[in-house]
Order: sequence, then C-alpha cells, then structure tokens
Amino acid sequence: MGIQMQERETGSVVRSEPILSVRAVHKTYTLGRVKVPVLHGVDLDVKQGEWVTILGASGSGKSTLLHLIGGLDRPDKKTERSASVQFRDRELTQESKRALDRYRADDIGFVFQFYHLLPELSVLENVTVGGMIKYGRLGYRAHRKQIVDRASGLLDRFGLSHRLKHRPAELSGGERQRVAIARALINEPSLLLADEPTGNLDLKTGESILDAIIEHRRDAGLTLVMVTHDERIAAKSDRVIRLIDGRVEEA
Ligand code: ADP
Ligand code: MG
Repeated sequence: MGIQMQERETGSVVRSEPILSVRAVHKTYTLGRVKVPVLHGVDLDVKQGEWVTILGASGSGKSTLLHLIGGLDRPDKKTERSASVQFRDRELTQESKRALDRYRADDIGFVFQFYHLLPELSVLENVTVGGMIKYGRLGYRAHRKQIVDRASGLLDRFGLSHRLKHRPAELSGGERQRVAIARALINEPSLLLADEPTGNLDLKTGESILDAIIEHRRDAGLTLVMVTHDERIAAKSDRVIRLIDGRVEEA
C-alpha cells in the first residue's frame, strides 16, 4: 500500500493517511429564538500520529469543533446535508448516540481547561472511572486489576504516585490537570483532544503539562488535536490551523 511515514521534530511518526476527516461542517446554536451561527463549512484532515494545533479568537468555535470531533455534539443537519465527520472508516454523523458513547470511551481522550475532575473521588478513582465507563460495571470487575495498574502507572509517570488517595481539592492546578490527562489516557485512545489544557496554569506548570503530553504522545503514537492561545506551544506542533469566520485556514 506504500504508506509514507515521516519523522517529525517531535520524534513522532506521522502516517500519510488521515485518521480524521471533517467536511462541510456547520454548527449553529439556538438560544431561544436567536440563532448563533458558529461554524460555516469546516474542512479538516488530521493524519494518524499528527499533532495539529487550533488557534482562533475567543468565541471563534474552537471548543465547538473539538466537541463535534469528539462525538459530544453533532453538526447541523438541515443547513448542510453533506456534513461529514469521519474517524477511520466510521461516519460519526450517521451513528447513534450509543455508538458515539462507545466511540468516546474507546477511541477518544478529552482534556479540558478546567480539569472536570469528580470532587468526591480520589485521584486514582478519577482515573479508573474511565475504565468503568469503557467496560461497564460487570466488565470493570473482570478488568479491575489491569485498569488500576495502568492508572497507577500513568499517575506515576506524571509524578503523582504520592497523591493517589488525595481528593482533587487537595491538589494544585498543575497536579489536577495531570490527573485529567491520565484519565484521558486510561483507555489508550488513538486520538487525544485537548481544549486549552494549559490555559489555566502558570507558564512553568503549563510547560510541564505539555511535556507530559508530548512524551506520552511519542511513546504511544497518539494523534493530538489541541486548542491553545499559546503561540509557543503551537510552534512545537506539526501543523497549525486557525478558525476564522467559522472556517479553517492553514496558518
Ligand atoms: P471558543 O472555544 O473558540 O472560544 P466556542 O466554541 O466555545 O468558542 O463558542 C463559539 C460560540 O458559540 C460563542 O459565541 C459561544 O457563546 C457560542 N456557544 C458555545 N456553546 C454554546 C451553547 N451550548 N449554546 C449556545 N451558544 C453556544
Ligand atoms: Mg473554548
């Protein structure tokens, strides 16, 4: 088949075939009677193993786009029948809610700006809960040891092995975000979606978060789509795109 591979500066291997193809995606929110058009025909290909950074002004639809890619929301149907979000050989716009839940559990990791950890759970539980979602209650029992081992391994790698029993409230922002990253990676996703993962952190902490993601990405061959305002982070990625007036422009 002649798959081309390229060694990147980031040390990752990028394959030439896309893992994700977004075509003609429109998204309009409705607030009461007011329509808020956000995306006006987004086209985007992401190759397997690639790190794509999305830049764009606040309110330009970056989070909206990540949500559509991650199966958390759907593109408009009425305005654009040809809208397509393809992940590998799956057409996400045609899939049931249940299938999208599976897709999120099996294939996608999500990291948010504000961590979204569960306050009642310990650090370790916040990470293993992803395994529970994937395997269900019964399946989780059968896989429990494997999931707990993997969660502890990830937390150890991110320098949190001394925090396993702590609650999120007892952690710093940087530590919370590292827990959130471990949670996103627990099911070995092939695509990590990160929405301003360093946006709430000071510079140095942000860099350590980024290093954790980069290191893991290299080892796991992860594909990464990241939203950030930080041009220095963007400069490290394989490719930068901008959302302008609801469309993608290559930067
Ligand atoms: P960004 O992440 O680039 O800052 P968003 O994708 O969050 O932008 O939002 C784009 C626009 O859509 C904003 O004007 C925002 O207010 C609006 N918006 C986002 N989510 C919703 C929603 N659930 N309901 C209504 N409007 C929304
Ligand atoms: Mg946003």
